[in-house]
Amino acid sequence: MSGQAATQVTGDDAARDDSGTPETIIRARNLSVHFPIGGGLFTKKLFLRAVDGVDLNIPQGSFFGLVGESGSGKTTLGRAFLRASPITTGEVEYHDDEVSYDLVNLGKEQLKDYRRRAQLIFQDPYAALSPRMTVRDIIAEPLEVMEITSSREETDEVVRTIASKCRLNLEHLRRFPHAFSGGQRQRISIARALVCNPRFVVADESVAALDVSIQADILNLLKSLQNDLGLTYLFISHDLSVVAHITDHVAVMYLGRLVESAPTRKLFSAPGHPYTQALLSAIPSLDPDHRGAAQKLEGEIPSPTRPPPGCKFHTRCPYATEICSEQEPVLQPVGDEHEVACHHWKEIGGG
Ligand code: SF4
Repeated sequence: MSGQAATQVTGDDAARDDSGTPETIIRARNLSVHFPIGGGLFTKKLFLRAVDGVDLNIPQGSFFGLVGESGSGKTTLGRAFLRASPITTGEVEYHDDEVSYDLVNLGKEQLKDYRRRAQLIFQDPYAALSPRMTVRDIIAEPLEVMEITSSREETDEVVRTIASKCRLNLEHLRRFPHAFSGGQRQRISIARALVCNPRFVVADESVAALDVSIQADILNLLKSLQNDLGLTYLFISHDLSVVAHITDHVAVMYLGRLVESAPTRKLFSAPGHPYTQALLSAIPSLDPDHRGAAQKLEGEIPSPTRPPPGCKFHTRCPYATEICSEQEPVLQPVGDEHEVACHHWKEIGGG
């Protein structure tokens, strides 16, 4: 443990409970991540607007889902929260029961401490693990790099504890990753991500590369570890049936912006944004009585280097009117903890 003094963040509207403890582990305001991708002396500079003005609160202890098509910016947003993507503008605060950090202005020591508190579980358990290291060394590496343990015995003890929590056989610690199946490798990845005792974990498509039967096993493991270790997850996925099963709140991204945010049950029963409605209608159902016609999303997601004016979804939205191409709708409350960014949400339904 670093023993580092907390940085006080004085956000006026940071959510706090009755005891004054912040309830929100991540709070972002107007967060943008833009990557320069060209232009020069005589041509206009181009920027890829991967994340473009996002406001988001992630409650402590939640299993928070983030969904959207490929290219919507969800991975970049998750990485910005980990300080692994450069933040162009905006505010991001992190709060847990020990520290509060302004993530945009972290000092060197604070960043080192934050790396321990916020971790990433990778998508691909085959690519994420070094084939030349034993499982013990893979899991132990973050402890050694961040100088969290002070002796080999202490490191081994911590590794054994997290390995057994992740339901790994302790005999496996001496083996190399190639000896394991996809599900076992993902358990190793999870053990590595959790060995430093983080509070906030970004799981980016963490079950996407696994067979369906193994997915359920890993999801159950993530859920039990959440209860056991007091974790907050940001669970990034394109698979809405997985998100419906495991998360308690979902935010929907489209072209770098949040278009809807709601408790999972609410979002799946009464989606308010036409984009969310189209995504949900495409989920295959095994129940013949609930098989509706999928709303086909016409065209491709526009380029984030040249996003359309007004509502970014207007080029594909069946409900678009003149105002939609002129004015960008903001996220507005439409129900309890339910927000939608659409000029016509009242007529379209949901909320
Ligand atoms: Fe569709 Fe207009 Fe709503 Fe955008 S604002 S989602 S274009 S109806």
